Amino acid sequence: MLYSDLAETFDRLESTGSRLEMTSILAEFFRRADKAELRSIVYLSQGKLHPDFVPGVLGMADRLVMKAIAKASGNPDDKVEKLTVETGDLGQVAEAMISRKKQMALFSEELTVARVVKGLTTIENAEGKDSQDVKQKTLAGLLHDSGPLEARYLCRTVTGRMRVGAADMTILDALAEAFATKEDRPTIERAFNVTCDIGLVAETIANGGMDAVLAIGVKVGSPVKVMLAERLPSIAEVVEKMGGRCAMEYKYDGIRVQAHIGRDSVKLYSRRLEDLTSNFPDIAEALRARCRHGEAIIEGECVAVDPETGYMLPFQNVTHRRKKHGMDEAVRDVPVRIFMFDMLYADGRDWTSEPYLDRRAALESGFEIGDNVQMTTMRMVGSPEEGEDFFASAIGARCEGIMAKSVAPDSVYRAGSRGFLWIKYKKDYQQALTDSFDLAVVGAFYGMGKRAGRYGALLMAAYDNETGRFETVCKLGTGFDDAFLDAMPALLDGTLSETRPSSVDAEMVPDVWFDPAVVLEVVAAEITLSPIHTAAKDVLKEGAGLGIRFPRFTGRVRDDKTPEQCTTVSEIVEMYGMQVHDSDGLSE
Ligand code: AMP
Repeated sequence: MLYSDLAETFDRLESTGSRLEMTSILAEFFRRADKAELRSIVYLSQGKLHPDFVPGVLGMADRLVMKAIAKASGNPDDKVEKLTVETGDLGQVAEAMISRKKQMALFSEELTVARVVKGLTTIENAEGKDSQDVKQKTLAGLLHDSGPLEARYLCRTVTGRMRVGAADMTILDALAEAFATKEDRPTIERAFNVTCDIGLVAETIANGGMDAVLAIGVKVGSPVKVMLAERLPSIAEVVEKMGGRCAMEYKYDGIRVQAHIGRDSVKLYSRRLEDLTSNFPDIAEALRARCRHGEAIIEGECVAVDPETGYMLPFQNVTHRRKKHGMDEAVRDVPVRIFMFDMLYADGRDWTSEPYLDRRAALESGFEIGDNVQMTTMRMVGSPEEGEDFFASAIGARCEGIMAKSVAPDSVYRAGSRGFLWIKYKKDYQQALTDSFDLAVVGAFYGMGKRAGRYGALLMAAYDNETGRFETVCKLGTGFDDAFLDAMPALLDGTLSETRPSSVDAEMVPDVWFDPAVVLEVVAAEITLSPIHTAAKDVLKEGAGLGIRFPRFTGRVRDDKTPEQCTTVSEIVEMYGMQVHDSDGLSE
């Protein structure tokens, strides 16, 4: 297939704001695409070459891309640079320059999808001292043979700024529309949730239909989307929602790890699918040694422990370990324990569709528990009083709160979904009305007074997982200490964007824009209707969105979360609902 066909589709996707229309554009395209290339096409529509859990990302420096554009279009470097400053979008620059070149009717070979994939792979994998040269030459070669539209998307893809609105959910809708029926949509989504590989799902459904999709299962080496918890504002409501009886576990404050234990090797994935194995070599080794199965997938929370007292330490200590250079030293200085809480797979058996208590029993008996491999503390709870009592002991053990887990027959491991089978209740809820938010930084305002010359406040957004867009909820200017104010440029400037990123909906205009990448944890007093913020715009009230009042940075950069994993707009709508419920005096 020609890459121009793909570029035209991207252009059509970009020019519509309607998710329904995007779905049908994609469905129509998937139907006529070459089946053998569908997998790559799906990755490319998200600006990638492979699923996120495979190491490597495209992120070519702007400077190199400008040079490649100059070379391919026969323009001087300074002309390309000037246009880049003017437009702020290398995609547009390449498009304009290449279109001038085309008018000069230079002959070139047509670009195929296969050649683009090969070129981009060379760019992604280039390493060592010649790597800059290799990247620049490879891109220039691709640009030389591309038309204006193809040039636009090539440059956005290599710089990691490819967002045409092909969010996971839209692609899954389109796959159902192209190859199956609406009723099959949940099954298709499950296949994605248990493999985290949308390209694999696309290829499977196009070649083997729904029978093949049904056969997709959990397997070691392919991370499973994590199950997430809902929240409720009191223990009494948690117990009631669970039908009066549930399991409660301590909610540990560490890093969630999904361990894929193979016969000879172990891989640890974070909840954002990063490979964390090199950060916890001791845990990987202990899990293999203590596992009674040949193969297994389990989940647990890695928590730092004070070597002197044996007490659990807060989250920051585990992050500290991740950043340490000498791993041997770190293993000694910051001992870590894993508290296991779920079993997803063992020796050919998919446990995700079994009820919670069975999974827990299988987990416990599947390991020789001891030392740094432990089970989470769990108790069966049959009343609010018992729940309160367990919560108090969790706080006493320096945990964040509790995780209530349904013990009903349908209490399966629901990969990738947030639901009431798990409900979290944290210590913070007793002080503030709401849970903390994990928000993406999308802009910054220059500081004044003491903060002159630095960023003084940030524009923060939540993620709408239906539309794949980031919508603003607050301007954040509190909770930054001097060290963080100084560190901000290094943290954020790599994602500077000259114009509002196409994935961001905002009415407030900051001094600088950022592509959503950095996630910060924020606490706030209240969620209110807002005329200026765009989260859930028009959902609750015509002309109003939802904003959060008195936001404060907690000091925690959530580098374990991708921007797509930050608090969602629908969660904020739900939290708003919980608040109204409280102030109506309907709850205790
Ligand atoms: P939150 O990040 O606030 O949405 O809370 C969910 C996170 O709590 C999970 O992703 C885990 O990292 C963590 N966690 C700590 N203890 C447990 C537990 N016992 N069961 C499940 N998750 C837990």
